[in-house]
Formats: sequence, structure tokens, C-alpha cells
Amino acid sequence: MTAHETDKYVYDFAEGNRDLKDLLGGKGANLAEMTNLGLPVPPGFTITTEACKAYLATGREPDGLAGQIEAHLEALEREMGRRLGDPDDPLLVSVRSGARFSMPGMMETVLNVGLNDHSVVGLARQASGSAGPAASGGSADPAASGGNDRFAWDSYRRLIQMFGKTVCEVPGEEFEHALDEAKRAKGSTDDLDLDADDLRGLVEAYKKIFAEHTGREFPQEPREQLDLAIRAVFESWNAERAILYRRQERIPADLGTAVNVVTMVFGNLGPDSGTGVAFTRDPGSGAQGIYGDYLANAQGEDVVAGIRNTVPLQELEQLDPKSYHQLLDIMARLEGHYQDLCDIEFTIERGKLWMLQTRVGKRTAAAAFVIAGQLVDEGLIDLDEALHRVNGAQLAQLMFPRFQLDHEIPPVARGIGASPGAASGTVVFTSARAVELAAEGRSVILVRRETNPDDLNGMIAAQGILTSRGGKTSHAAVVARGMGKTCVSGADEIEVNVPAKRFTVGGHTVGEGDVISIDGTTGKVYLGEVPVMPSEVVQYFEGSLDPAHIDNALVRAVHRIMTHADDRRRLAVRTNADTGADAARARRFGAEGIGLCRTEHMFLGDRRELVERLILAATDADRTDALAALLPLQRQDFVEIFREMDGLPVTVRLIDPPLHEFLPPLEQLAVNVAVAQERGEDVAKEEALLAAVRRMHEENPMLGLRGVRLGLVIPGLFAMQVRAITEAAVAVTRDGGAARPEIMVPLVGAVQELETVRTEAEKIIAEVVGDSGVEVLIGTMIEVPRAALTAGQIAEAAQFFSFGTNDLTQMGWGFSRDDVEGAFFWRYLELGIFGISPFESIDRDGVGRLIRIAAEEGRAARPGLKLGVCGEHGGDPDSVHFFHEVGLDYVSCSPFRVPVARLEAGRAAIETTGSDSR
Ligand code: PEP
Ligand code: MG
Repeated sequence: MTAHETDKYVYDFAEGNRDLKDLLGGKGANLAEMTNLGLPVPPGFTITTEACKAYLATGREPDGLAGQIEAHLEALEREMGRRLGDPDDPLLVSVRSGARFSMPGMMETVLNVGLNDHSVVGLARQASGSAGPAASGGSADPAASGGNDRFAWDSYRRLIQMFGKTVCEVPGEEFEHALDEAKRAKGSTDDLDLDADDLRGLVEAYKKIFAEHTGREFPQEPREQLDLAIRAVFESWNAERAILYRRQERIPADLGTAVNVVTMVFGNLGPDSGTGVAFTRDPGSGAQGIYGDYLANAQGEDVVAGIRNTVPLQELEQLDPKSYHQLLDIMARLEGHYQDLCDIEFTIERGKLWMLQTRVGKRTAAAAFVIAGQLVDEGLIDLDEALHRVNGAQLAQLMFPRFQLDHEIPPVARGIGASPGAASGTVVFTSARAVELAAEGRSVILVRRETNPDDLNGMIAAQGILTSRGGKTSHAAVVARGMGKTCVSGADEIEVNVPAKRFTVGGHTVGEGDVISIDGTTGKVYLGEVPVMPSEVVQYFEGSLDPAHIDNALVRAVHRIMTHADDRRRLAVRTNADTGADAARARRFGAEGIGLCRTEHMFLGDRRELVERLILAATDADRTDALAALLPLQRQDFVEIFREMDGLPVTVRLIDPPLHEFLPPLEQLAVNVAVAQERGEDVAKEEALLAAVRRMHEENPMLGLRGVRLGLVIPGLFAMQVRAITEAAVAVTRDGGAARPEIMVPLVGAVQELETVRTEAEKIIAEVVGDSGVEVLIGTMIEVPRAALTAGQIAEAAQFFSFGTNDLTQMGWGFSRDDVEGAFFWRYLELGIFGISPFESIDRDGVGRLIRIAAEEGRAARPGLKLGVCGEHGGDPDSVHFFHEVGLDYVSCSPFRVPVARLEAGRAAIETTGSDSR
């Protein structure tokens, strides 16, 4: 037996289950799960992601696939008692993509496969059923022929349109123009007004468009349609918009998509048919209840595309009570089964309910917390699972500010709050313009009638999205929620005119370049810029909202889950803070110390003059004077910080950047001197400065005289700082407070550098500390690759390490941290060299390896060596998991990210211990 004969590429729905998402994709696995639960799923089969991967790797279907499809199709035909495309009584199928991770609207779907010039007649006859005689083939009154002739031709034109566009790349507008033309000829704007004759004419027009663009007739052979549609779905994995979406959502590029071949059921058979989407809880707020949209007499893509406005699902109770109650039962069952919010797609074909899809539903950040809390209350999950189901990115979103509406500003329009947040920005009407203005650093609101997958670039660039059509489940809503972007959809008072670049609403005209504000929670749209206020979650962290006494489901859920994260986490969380005010805020956010106090910020502002004096000092005495003047100022800074932190550890880093950063730029200085000389002014001081700047100029300052090198070259500089830190600690302690200073030396690459600084520092510390009982630790940053690789030696001289992952990334990759992200990272991302900037999320394989080595070798040399991280990565959710894994003691990040780091540290702890600890 050869290898390919053993590969199984096709699974009947009855053969799969929800755990097979890698192989069958999310949609296929869940269709299988629902089939096995005995729910009404139209029969079908799934072609695996393995088949897709093999196709994409070789450009052809893998051996054995065609035969397996044939066998499953035959079984399906037997089960349904119909043959694909049979002229008398055709079986029709949909061909749907479905990857491991949901990528809404990013890949292809073809409906009604199996229709051709002959089977369209059979379909009309079959669909007429008991409703009346076989289609007469031309009644001008759709009702007179039971609507079925019309239905069959409508289905056929949809097939040609979708097949043409997705399988053969015929421009979609061509079909849309022909449809508009047919409606115009009929004097209507609604496609439901087109009768069977009109649609038959439209099919002819579509076939002509198809032939003109492809050089061939529309394929009449049903199996050929099926094979080409399957191939198109495989290929859509690599469509530009799918690639972009994956990058944005960090979905791996090599997963491939499965293909689901599903018996067609029809929501467009008349008023007793329809299609809809529903959620088992509100995906916006998490509130319990029934949420969804329903569209009578329509096929699935009409709902998501927002072509016609939907009605709330509750109205189905009036339209079709039996299906409505059956749907509610199924929803309750699915929620119990998946123990989570589910979203579903369904179709009603002449009063019979069919389930077309379910999955654990996407939700807003607020809903994620609220639902996790509810499910714990309902006894469906435990707190570990609740913690697992939320994440730091969601928490960060909840910390975004909201509009400050002290007095009620009247909105100009109100749509659906599709994705929360508050956004103000310049109005743009096209994706391209959104990208352009965003590149200039402007905040933009993308305004469209409805969005489609081609708008993805613009949606990424925009601060917010506003559409005039479509519900909570429209493309704009789903994609914006996934991205955590503010979105208001279906604001139908707004008339959007994209070609004229303006929209009108209530007598106002808003053009490109005007500013509006949108509230993705309330759905309100305001003219002009509305000021913003902090979120409730931030108010809770700030201590001004007490979760025990407020009636706010979100704050209570956040409190409960954060408390559990704190119980579970092993990593401590500190903050990067340089002032007493920052330190105080970070403490309120839960910081357990300062992991990085950058002292260079204390050399700016009105102290610049002293620093200039230090740099220009011509003699030892001048320099000593300048340092002596700086000492009390520095000491006071540290006193404030130690007081705020009140006994928590405070890591103070000695000055790091090249000194010329404290002087005016060379060009500016040169011009000033020249102008002043011209005017005959006294320029002695400026000239001295200019000379110093010239002297200190470096081609690569980030690799030059900075960090520990400054301490070794400029006598007394580090000594002054060590003295200020220690004196401050002693002063706070003598005042009855507590101070735990940790002095950190930057940019060390060799143990000798550290030893030199340490010897000098220890002398000063011993002298200042006296009998105060203050203990001062001396440690180093690990931010130069050589330090990581010689960590065993460096640990001999260091009481702690703190990884400076910004510089370690810069020097590990050889990427200038100030330049490259804007300059060329787009190309690296495009090529997949990395999926996210290594400055944002730790590069586990390279920079991460340096950290691992340093941690292991450092601890081998000095057991119990304290390890932390203070680069930007300390607050990045993914990186926090890595730091947990490599055994650091703490992460340190900006105050605002402290809660995110606490949450992720808790999640990292439960993920490593696994489910058996629950
Ligand atoms: C680092 O390099 O990661 C670091 C924390 O130091 P800085 O960003 O100040 O260079
Ligand atoms: Mg650094």
C-alpha cells in the first residue's frame, strides 16, 4: 500500500467531532459535533486542511482526493435520493471554507453548486412541491407560480455570480451593474421585485459576462463546478486579504483551510423561509438573552453582507413560532454542551429549521469578562477556566477611555454599538485614504455604507468604523470586534455617498476631512470631537469604584478574575516609573515594586543647565561642583519615590543614554552661533557648547559612550547617583519609612565593568548607610548579547539581573530600535520573517534564547539570583508567558500595563500547571 492510499482526506459529518478542528477546521468540526448531537444539520462532508496544504504545496489535488470526494458524494446522493445537478430533481450543494480559526468573510464560499441550464428547470419543478403545479416558466407574477420558478432562476444567477467572482476572478462589479440594470429596467430598487423572466434574462447577461472575462462558457457539468469551487476555496487561503487578516490576528500562515460540501437548504423560497444569525448571549455586553438578526426570504450571505436590513431575532416568534422555539431549545442545548457563548447560523426552509454553523462566539472584551463570571456562577466552569477565557489584550481594551458626556451632547445619528470604545477622527470614505492619513499619524474614522473584506486595510488603519447598513453581525461589526476596534454599524439615518466623498444626516453634510466621534458602546455618532474620560475598569483599578458596592457586572467580573489571577501567579509584577506620581498610580494598579527607574529623566527640564555645566567642565573642580549641585536634586527625586513605594523594592538604574542627548542638536547650535556672531553678540558659551557637541559626536551613539561606559569614563558621575540613592533611602528610613533600593548598572557586557562600578559604589554605600539598617543591592541589566553569554561570570558580581529586552533585541538582531519599525518591518512581516515586531513581542527563538542562557548560567553561578525584565516586553501578554516559562521572578512594565501583566502572569501559571490542578 502506498502512502497516499492511507491518507484520509474526506470526512462525513457523522465521522468528525469538535476536537478535530486542526483537521476539519472550526466549521467542519462543529457541523460534525452538531450532527452527532442529533441537531438538524443538512448532510454533507468535509475535505481536510491536510488536503488543502497538499494542494497549496504542489499546486494540484493530492492523489486519492478525487476518488474520496466521489465516494462521499455518491453516499450523499444516496442519502438524499437525488443526484448532483440532476436535470429533473437536482441535489445542490454549498462549498464553504472553514479554517482552524474563524476568519470571517476572508475566504470563499460558493452556493447552489449543481445548477445549470437543465437542472434550473428541475429545481423550479422540485421546489414547487405541493405549493402548486410545476413552474410554468414565465409567469410575470411570482406568486402565481408559487414563486418557485423565480426562486430557481434567482439561485442560478447567484451561482454564476459567486462562481464567476470567486472561482474565475470575474470582477464582482460587472455582475452588480447587470443586477442594478435589471432593477432599473423594472423601475425598482429591490431585488425581490425581479420576477422569473427578469431573472432568466439576468442569467443570460451573467453568462455573457462570464464568457467575456474567462474566454469560456459557464461550466454546465456539476462535478466540474464542484471541483473548481473546492480548488478556489483551497486557493483563497492565500488570498491577499486572508494573509492580511492572519497577520493582524496572529493566525499561523501554514494551517490551510478545510472545505465543507453541504446539501443546500433554501432560505429564499418565500416568506415562510429565511435565514439568520444568533448568539446565545449578547456578544457586546455579555448580558443573558437572545440576540440575533433574521432576514426572511433570503440566503445566508445576504445577512452578513448587510445587503438588506435585518429584523431582530425576537420577531421570528411572530413569523414562525415553531421554528423560533425549536431554535431557542437548540441554543440552550449548544450553550450547555460547549459551556460557552455560541454563535449560530441557521436557515428556515418552508418552516423547517436547519443549523448551518455553530462555534464558540467572538465577543467583546467586556462580554468576555462578564460571561466568564456568569458561567462560574452558573457552575458551568471554575475560576481557572474563567481566567483562561479572558486575556490581557481584552483587559487593555477595557482600559481605553470613554467619551465624557457631562451634559448630553445630541448625537446626529444612532446606529448599532457594534464594537465598543470611543473614537474621534477625520472622516474618510475609502480604505486607501484611511491608510494614507493614518500613515501621517492622523486618527481617522472610515465611513462606508457597508464594509467588505477588501476594506480590511482601511479598517486596520482607522481608529473607528461607521457604516450605514448592516447589523451586529455585519462584516464591519464582526471584523471590528475581532480587532478590538470601535465600530458603529447600521446607522441608517446616514446617507453615504462614497464617490462624492460625503455623507448627509439630519440636514448636515459631512465631507472628507471633517471630524466626527463615534461611540461603539451606545452606537451614537457625534459631529466634531468629543472629549474622553477614563473607563470604569480604570476607575476600579484607581480605587474609586468598589466592586462590592456597585451594580456593574463588568467591574465585578474584572475584580473577581483579577483576584484569582493574583492568587495563581508566580511572577511578581513591578512597574517602570521615574516619578512619585507614576509610582503611586502603578501601585494602585497593583505594582509590587519598581523594576526600572530611569534616572536620565531627572537630568532634563530645568536641570539641563547643570548637566551642561557637567559636560563642559574644564577642570576636575568644575565637574565636582556641577555634580554637587545635582546631588540634592537627585536625592529629593529618590526620596519621593521611596516614600511612595513604602518598603517595596525600587530598582534605580544609573544614567544610561549618551550625554549629548542632553545638549542641543549640532545643526541648531551651529546656526544659533553663526547668527549670534553675525549680530556681534557674545557667543563664548554657545561656542563652547558647540565644540563639546562636535567633540562628543558619534556615528553610532547607541553603540557608543553610554551606560556603564559613562560611569567608567566620567569621574564622579555614578558616585554622585549612588550617593543620592543611598542618602535618600537612609533619610526615608530615619523618618520611619522603609526603602529597598536596588542599584542597577546599564549596558554591562563584561564582568570587569560591573566590578569596577561595584567596588566604588560599595564604598559609598557603606559610608552612607552607617547604622541605618538600609540594605542596598547592586545588580545589572542584561541587555548586551555578550552579557547574556557570559552571565555566569557576571552573576559573580551581581545580586540581580534585569533583562533590558529593548536593547537586547536591538543588539541581538542588529536592528536600530529607533528606525527600523517604520522603515522596513512591513517587508519582514510580508515575508513572514516574523509575525509581529520583535520589539513588541519577545523573539523566543533568538533573543529569548539569550535570556534562557543568561537565566540558567546566572542562577548556576549564584543560586537564587533575582531575575526580572524591564524592557517593553514586560507588559506584552505573549512575552509574559515566556518570562514565566524561563523562571524569571518578576516582570516590570509601564503603569497602565501592570493589570495586563498581572492577568497574563496568572494565566501563564494555570497554563503550565495544566487542567489537573483545577
Ligand atoms: C531596555 O533596553 O530594554 C531597557 C529597559 O532600557 P532602555 O529602554 O532605557 O534602553
Ligand atoms: Mg536599554
